[in-house]
Amino acid sequence: MAQERVLVVVETVGSEARPASLELFGAGRPLADRLGGELVGLVIGSGVQRVAELAGHLGADRVLLADDPALGEPVAARAARAVEAAIAASDPALILLPATTLGRDVAPLLAATFRAAHLVNCVRIEVDDETVTATRPVYQDKLLTTVRAARSQRVFVTVRSGAFAVPEAQPGLQVPIEQLAVSLTDADRAVVVTQLVEKPKGMTNLENAPIVVVGGRGVGSAENFRLVEELAAALDGAVGCTRAVSDLGWRPHYEQIGQTGKNIRPKLYLGVGVSGAVQHTVGMRSSDTIVVINRDPNAPLVKMADFAIVGDLFEIVPRLTKRLRELRGTA
Ligand SMILES: Cc1cc2nc3c(=O)[nH]c(=O)nc-3n(C[C@H](O)[C@H](O)[C@H](O)COP(=O)(O)OP(=O)(O)OC[C@H]3O[C@@H](n4cnc5c(N)ncnc54)[C@H](O)[C@@H]3O)c2cc1C
Repeated sequence: MAQERVLVVVETVGSEARPASLELFGAGRPLADRLGGELVGLVIGSGVQRVAELAGHLGADRVLLADDPALGEPVAARAARAVEAAIAASDPALILLPATTLGRDVAPLLAATFRAAHLVNCVRIEVDDETVTATRPVYQDKLLTTVRAARSQRVFVTVRSGAFAVPEAQPGLQVPIEQLAVSLTDADRAVVVTQLVEKPKGMTNLENAPIVVVGGRGVGSAENFRLVEELAAALDGAVGCTRAVSDLGWRPHYEQIGQTGKNIRPKLYLGVGVSGAVQHTVGMRSSDTIVVINRDPNAPLVKMADFAIVGDLFEIVPRLTKRLRELRGTA
């Protein structure tokens, strides 16, 4: 086997690349250079020719395009077939996938198929003639661990979002795009996507929002979340929630902060009726300033907060929202 190429797997949504996949070009280029081989981009999706062109602009030496309506649906078995076809076409030593929901499904599936190593959720990757060495956060990011895989076999690596920068696109770079035929079995088509629910447009992106107002079970009902929404709007912030709230169906799961939800580090975190269970605080404790409104002075989040307002949220939140609107001239 040639075993010096690096294959980068680009996931798409509709006709666009998932941003986390584009970061793989930043991760893959130095590895391919170190191995003295090509950086190969594989674009998987439906109607994604433009993404394939972008892969060339981001530094891929060779671009493979698996473009098929059946690949437009995020089904792990189908994406895995596309990566298998790309591996057959390019014989890479190292395969990088984004640590997205789909990437985290596809990589172990392939690693098992190829009986190969899989390094998970990596933030740093190095390679030499013998080994691939990677760094990955563990224990809710409290520690970084170093993991190694021998290069006697292919190595699959999932790369954590945000760990590498997307290289600057150079539209002058023209790389031929090779169409990749992917044959899907009936079993690959057995799982079908029945519905894709889009996040409502115009909503502030929770992970990047500088101000996040998080409502907990203390808010009491889905209807009462109007108070949290109004406070967030008065601050130009985003709305988040605890797992207790998303489990109750008061808010969508994608707003959940914590161990099994999103990690946020806004300038201002404002918790309303949130107790501060450790599974929640691991996802927000890096916030610059933490403010909490809770009627229990002994709630863990009250103790952890920079500022705590101890009292009934149903009295405090409407007054706070009103005052903020007055101060900002939006009353
Ligand atoms: C494996 C696992 C993973 C988990 N992952 C997550 C996760 O990712 N994110 C997450 O958030 N949780 C997670 N949890 C759940 C977590 O343990 C807690 O149960 C949850 O965070 C509690 O949510 P809460 O603070 O909204 O509710 P509660 O703990 O019920 O707290 C409600 C708070 O509201 C206050 N309150 C009530 N009424 C008022 C009022 N009128 N005015 C002011 N304050 C009031 C109360 O004093 C209380 O402090 C996980 C649990 C497990 C086991």
